[in-house]
Amino acid sequence: MEIIEESRIPVMEHFYTLQGEGQWAGSPAYFIRTAGCDVGCHWCDVKESWTVKEEQYVKVEEVVKLARDSKAPIVVVTGGEPTMYDLGPLTRSIKTVGLRIHIETSGVYPFSGEFDWITLSPKKFKASREEYYSLAQELKVVIYTKHDLKWAEKEAAKCNPQKTRFYLQPEWSRKDRVGLIIDYIKANPHWRLSIQSHKYINIP
Ligand code: SF4
Repeated sequence: MEIIEESRIPVMEHFYTLQGEGQWAGSPAYFIRTAGCDVGCHWCDVKESWTVKEEQYVKVEEVVKLARDSKAPIVVVTGGEPTMYDLGPLTRSIKTVGLRIHIETSGVYPFSGEFDWITLSPKKFKASREEYYSLAQELKVVIYTKHDLKWAEKEAAKCNPQKTRFYLQPEWSRKDRVGLIIDYIKANPHWRLSIQSHKYINIP
């Protein structure tokens, strides 16, 4: 099948691994991590993704070919903040080669592209746009302090409970708080636990 789109996008890194988090944890997936983010989470574990360098711009066609050749059934577009860019050309090209396409976003820029799975991971530091709450199949809230649980409920209330699955994920440096989150989920069973399983087994 032809890859039809000619466009460029800044990519910090791309790699074939297993999805570590959320609903699709354990699934083989090709990650495309765009460069650039202005959300400013103080606990961000990919701060090197915040800036964009000219040399990071790659042809969409090239990165899609690599994803196709990897044999991955799923491409995950993440960041950085991928919605800073028009994702139409990238997602159309990925569809053209017959792969599923997922996105993980904080939803702070207008939505673009065609996705099979949308993970909204809202951040306190910059509000998500309203459109993402009705689009999200998965809401993943990172828990840094116990007060974040209250905020997580406010975010969940904006979603469609018939469509969206709700996940609480301990921030990696606070993973000792997982017991608190487990207790919370047991008392509030519309939530599920997401852990960064890739970090436990030391894969990207
Ligand atoms: Fe880091 Fe993601 Fe927050 Fe951006 S939105 S600062 S990439 S955790």
